[in-house]
Amino acid sequence: MVNKSIIDGLAEIAGKDNVLTDEESLKCYSYDATRYASTPDAVVKPRDTGEISKVLSLAYEEAIPVTPRGAGTGLSGGSVPVKAGIVLSTERMNSTPRIHKEDLYVEAEAGLVTEQLQAVVEAMGLFYPPDPASQSACTIGGNVAECAGGLRGLKYGTTRNYVLGLEMVTPEGKVLRTGARTVKSVAGYDVTRLMVGSEGTLGVVSSAFLKVLPLPPARRVLSCAFDNLGKASEVVSEILGQGLIPSILEIMDEKTVTAVEAHTGEKLGEGVMLLVEFDGTKAICDEDASKAREIIEGKYGGKVMGDVEGPERENVWRARRAVLPALTRLSPTVILEDVTVPRSRLPEMTAKIMKVAERYALRIAVFGHAGDGNLHPTFLTDRKKHDEIKRVNAGISEMMRACIDLGGTISGEHGIGLDKMPFLKLQIGKAGYDIMKRLKVSLDHKGIMNPGKMFYDA
Ligand SMILES: Cc1cc2nc3c(=O)[nH]c(=O)nc-3n(C[C@H](O)[C@H](O)[C@H](O)COP(=O)(O)OP(=O)(O)OC[C@H]3O[C@@H](n4cnc5c(N)ncnc54)[C@H](O)[C@@H]3O)c2cc1C
Repeated sequence: MVNKSIIDGLAEIAGKDNVLTDEESLKCYSYDATRYASTPDAVVKPRDTGEISKVLSLAYEEAIPVTPRGAGTGLSGGSVPVKAGIVLSTERMNSTPRIHKEDLYVEAEAGLVTEQLQAVVEAMGLFYPPDPASQSACTIGGNVAECAGGLRGLKYGTTRNYVLGLEMVTPEGKVLRTGARTVKSVAGYDVTRLMVGSEGTLGVVSSAFLKVLPLPPARRVLSCAFDNLGKASEVVSEILGQGLIPSILEIMDEKTVTAVEAHTGEKLGEGVMLLVEFDGTKAICDEDASKAREIIEGKYGGKVMGDVEGPERENVWRARRAVLPALTRLSPTVILEDVTVPRSRLPEMTAKIMKVAERYALRIAVFGHAGDGNLHPTFLTDRKKHDEIKRVNAGISEMMRACIDLGGTISGEHGIGLDKMPFLKLQIGKAGYDIMKRLKVSLDHKGIMNPGKMFYDA
């Protein structure tokens, strides 16, 4: 219970102005980018690792739930404080990152916005590849906690591939540094990797040591139109099978393309679109783009409608990043899923989604990171229509099972949070679930860290 003495304790740690308890402010920290909401008792905004440590020590002592929060852009309900208690917001922890150019890594505070990190490193000729479409708002801490992916996952992987180490605070308030600042380290268990994707259920990340790469000198993007989703998803495996590794390979169905065009007022293409980007030297980009063009326009009957390089490409990616805001204008409730299958199974997964839409009479828009086998089927619905919501739930359940049967995963990048809890055991089995629960209990034995997430019984 967060009583006056706890509030006073928080104010002593972070300063009175950085503890919020009024109704309006609490509402602002009650939701993320999903349909879930729950109001906390208090919000605290620590300035550094020391303050996080003191907040957690106090919460641990009193057994008060703590929900870490970055920017609240999560798509699985992770930062929604379902058991009330304290929301620990990292928004003040956003100082300029420290760049170690000679060792190719940067040190970034948890509350730093991803796009700001990218801008700082790019100004020095470096490159931090993870680029969630929410990069203009989401934070490094949130990216680490969700193991965020993004558009460049196909060639460059996800956040996990860039975290060399972390500074973090345990539920009891102990500060530790995991991993190393070196390119390799096998000193004991890989606690860093355990923390990445742990969704704030095991501790709070205060800063991250992130690998960076040299910035590619050239990039070129093809915008390609197809008659149907099946053909567009078949071409993905063909491109990869021919030895081409685009830096980005995104898919958008017709509903999505139309919604984005209406939202941005700009023409993107027609029908189903694949957006294919190559990076490297100019010669490599040109060679790869021309090979890809042959594949796309060959037996798959696609049409290359745009072929741009340099800063002009940003128009294409701005449109792509506008997908979710564009779709939310189409219906009062939008439920976005995150199914991911081996790339060769994409045609089967897209066919299944279409079948689900037909069988349950639902509107589903499909887009996603096709090059990663990661689709975001987005259910356009209205939570007030109870019959329709029942059909949505049945459709989601059928889709999840099909995804697992195809060798896929229920979440490629958004995490379990609240949203995917019903399906976690289905994917990882009882033994897998039990070992995760044992880890959770041994690291957070009072169960104060983001309770009510990932596991039903935690
Ligand atoms: C328009 C839009 C597009 C998106 N596109 C993508 C995409 O392309 N790829 C992708 O992967 N995701 C995407 N997302 C989802 C979301 O942006 C990511 O999951 C992001 O990593 C969340 O960051 P955040 O700072 O908003 O975290 P929050 O939403 O605040 O929190 C997310 C989770 O992380 C935990 N957490 C936050 N900070 C910390 C910390 N310092 N220590 C411990 N735990 C912490 C929270 O408790 C919560 O469980 C998108 C979301 C939107 C709205």
